[in-house]
Amino acid sequence: MIGTGLGFAVMKNGRILQNENKGPAYSIFRLPFHGATAEDFVSGRGIVNRYNKEAKVPAANAKEVADRADAGDALGLRVHAEMGADLAEIIGPILKDLRIKALYLGGQISKSFALFEEALRDGLSALSDLTVIEAAKDLDLAHLTGVTQWYLQNQPFDAYPMKLEAVCKEIVWGGTQLGERFHKPAGKIAEAWELCVHPEGVCKIENGKFAGKLLSDYLGTKENFPVMIKLIDACDRLSIQVHPVKTEMWYIVDCKPGATLVYGLKEKFNREDFLAALENGTVENLLNMVPVHPGDVFFIPQGLVHAIGAGILVAEIQENSNVTYRVYDYGRLQNGKPRELHVDQAMQTIRDFTPDQIEKARYACGRGDSHTLANCPLFKVDRFMVNGEMTVPVSGFFLSVICLEGEGKIGEERIQKGDSFYLPAGCGNVKITGSLEVILTTK
Ligand SMILES: [Zn+2]
Repeated sequence: MIGTGLGFAVMKNGRILQNENKGPAYSIFRLPFHGATAEDFVSGRGIVNRYNKEAKVPAANAKEVADRADAGDALGLRVHAEMGADLAEIIGPILKDLRIKALYLGGQISKSFALFEEALRDGLSALSDLTVIEAAKDLDLAHLTGVTQWYLQNQPFDAYPMKLEAVCKEIVWGGTQLGERFHKPAGKIAEAWELCVHPEGVCKIENGKFAGKLLSDYLGTKENFPVMIKLIDACDRLSIQVHPVKTEMWYIVDCKPGATLVYGLKEKFNREDFLAALENGTVENLLNMVPVHPGDVFFIPQGLVHAIGAGILVAEIQENSNVTYRVYDYGRLQNGKPRELHVDQAMQTIRDFTPDQIEKARYACGRGDSHTLANCPLFKVDRFMVNGEMTVPVSGFFLSVICLEGEGKIGEERIQKGDSFYLPAGCGNVKITGSLEVILTTK
C-alpha cells in the first residue's frame, strides 16, 4: 500500500509487516535512488521538477502537469510514464521478495494513476504473483494506511490467541453443569462470562506474553468493548425481563426434555392489559412460551420481553451492557424478600412486535453442520463443526472462539470444551485443528 507521498506498508495475511521499532518493515521513504532518494522521483515534487527541467512554460504544481498531460502534452505524458517506471523499479524487488499479490496506491499521486499506470504495469509485469494493481477510488485506503501506521506506533502489536479465564457468577437460579461439564469451578455457577470487559467483570488472560493480565490491560481501556459472551446454566427459570438498549442472542447448547423459555408476548403489547395482568398475577398467560431443543437460536432485539426457562444451558452473545428491567419474578422470594422489579421502566421499554416478527427471529439449526447463527450490525456469530483443520482469518476485527464440545488446538494452544479464546485484530490466519464444536463471534 502506498499512502501520501511515499509512505509504504506491506500487509500479509491481514497483518502489517513491521520492523523491530514497530515501524513499517519495508520503508521506501528515504530509499537511495539514482543519486537522490526515491521520494525525490516518485512524488508530486518529483513530477514538477522533472517537467520544469525541460518545459518551455513551467508548471506551478503537479496538478498542472497532470492537467497538461490529460490535454495531450507530450512532456507531461512522458514524465508521468517515467515516474511509473521509477516506481516499479523502487518497489518491484520488495513485491517480488514477498510475493505480494495486490498493490494499492493512495494519496495525491493516485489521482493521476491513469497517466503512469501503463509504465508501472510494464515495470512490474514480470511479477507473476501480483494480480491486482489499483489506485484508491477515494483517499480512504491512504487514510487507512495512516491509521494503521499510527496504531502500530502507539500500541504494542502483540496479537496471538489469548486463552481467557471466565468471570463466574454464583446466582440462586444457577446449576452445576458449568463446573461438571465445562471445566468451570464447582458450585452453583449460573453464568460464566467467557468474554467480558465490563465494570462488573473482566476476563483474565491465561497464556503467552500477557498471562496474568486482565484483558482490559491488554486493550488499554475498560471502555467500549463491543460484546459480552456468557455461558448460562439455568437450573431454575429466570425473571421476566426486557433491556432498554441491548440486543442479544441465545444459542441453546443443551436442555432438559420439555424445557421452555419466554420469547416475547403472545399478542401485541398492550400497556393497560399488561399492567392489569401484573396486578392480578396472570401475566404468565400473556407470555409466549416456546419449547427449546439443542441447536435452537433466538435473536432478542432491544425491547423484546424474554426469559430463560429452567433446565436450559445457553451461550449468550450480547451487546456489552448489563441494564436489565425485571418485569416479573414469579412471586419468588430471595432472602425472604421479593427481588426489585422495574415495571415503570419496562413499560417504557417493551416494544410492539407482532407474533410474526417474533417467529422470524428464531430458528432451529440442529447440531450437525456449520452454520451462521446471527449476523447483525453488532455481531456476527458462526458455529463450526471442526473435523481436521480449519483456518480462520483474523484481520480487521477481533474474533472470539468458544469451544462447546470436543478438543483440539488453536494455533499452538490446546483448546477443549468450555475454553474461551480472544484473538485480537491482526492475528492473521489462525488454524483450529482437532474435532470440536466452536462458536466464533466477531464484530
Ligand atoms: Zn436478557
